[in-house]
Amino acid sequence: MLPPPNLRHTGAYAAFRCIGSACEDNCCYDWSIPVDRRTYEMYQTCGDEGLRPQLRKLITIRPAGGIDQDYARINLVNNQCPLLHEGLCSVHAGLGESYLPEACASFPRSAVIIDGVQENSLFLSCPEAARLILLDPDRNRIGEYPAEDPPNRVADYAPVLDSTPYPDFHEVRELVRQLLRATSLPRWRRMVILARFCEDLNAALAGRGGSVAERIRFARQAMTEEPAPLPEPPAARLEILLELLVGRLSTEFTPRPFLECYREFMAGLDWGPLSTIDDIAVRHSAAGNHFARFEARYPQFLDNFLISYATRTVFPYGHRDTDPRTIQKIRIDYVENAIREQYLLLAVHYAAVRTLLIGMAAFHRGGLTAEHAVKLVQSYAKAYLHSGSYASHAQQILSSNGIQLATEATILFAE
Ligand code: SF4
Repeated sequence: MLPPPNLRHTGAYAAFRCIGSACEDNCCYDWSIPVDRRTYEMYQTCGDEGLRPQLRKLITIRPAGGIDQDYARINLVNNQCPLLHEGLCSVHAGLGESYLPEACASFPRSAVIIDGVQENSLFLSCPEAARLILLDPDRNRIGEYPAEDPPNRVADYAPVLDSTPYPDFHEVRELVRQLLRATSLPRWRRMVILARFCEDLNAALAGRGGSVAERIRFARQAMTEEPAPLPEPPAARLEILLELLVGRLSTEFTPRPFLECYREFMAGLDWGPLSTIDDIAVRHSAAGNHFARFEARYPQFLDNFLISYATRTVFPYGHRDTDPRTIQKIRIDYVENAIREQYLLLAVHYAAVRTLLIGMAAFHRGGLTAEHAVKLVQSYAKAYLHSGSYASHAQQILSSNGIQLATEATILFAE
């Protein structure tokens, strides 16, 4: 048997504790809950006469092809888990923690095992996790920790990756981390360098133009050079961002907290049916001053959003495939332009969150608080980062608006 992997994670991960009934957006709402195969089988024979028939009735096996980790689903009733009674989980209360599905036992934790090291992270869709991550003044510094005994169940189905076939894999991830934490450069500048690097890496991995090591050197060099100014962002970029946001709202269930933030954003920019995009662009630009007050108070907030996203998705290697022979083993899939697409998605999420926060800052007349901002990012994560269809939808919208290269996506957040 292999020894348990060492752990890598942040102080936020180590500090996380579920706040249960004090939680403002409990994870038992709005999501159908995956039940792993092992837990499903335990339910069929559990000794609790009262719960067993309920579990059999409320949980349905996924259509053929479901993986062991997502073998069955608890279907929601009135948008909440039907096993939740007066704020308490009846499975936890009646059968104990070992009977919770793996998703419930581990959420909001997430893990991937790379070269024998377990990298843990937290989903931003949990309000308490979002607070810890986004407000961390240390910008989610990662540390090494000894293996837990007994191990957290997040490792039960953690994907396993051997980085050996991928050139300079760890150096690329280290560069991304350093770049996102390089606060001596303005954030837009860091994102522009990252866009150029992702385009170069995309080309290098497709066998066009230089080695990965060379591309890393160029990016490091760019961090020391005087930046070329970004062109004036076209007013139409706000229309693109609205299209990106609304496309998701009109096709899938959207959690109430996100809709509340979205209404504040629209009201903050006075965005109504008769508004012209030029008017909105002027108000958005003026609202930047309100948001600057928030940024002065919480300079780490958006950095932490980016760092947390990049860590959890193994950016820019997010396009991964499960090896069908070993189920849990993953491999990086270099489908055409995979790295470029990971950057485009990162740019969309960053630009959307930043733009929404600017509108909300205007709504609150410059009094945007950490509580408002955490609510926006947490509910955005729940609505957009967990959506199975949003990534391809966003790519289509960018493409139909002429944004195809990573470097072209920088107009979405130009300051
Ligand atoms: S969302 Fe997070 S804090 Fe809230 S109940 Fe779930 S795990 Fe606990």
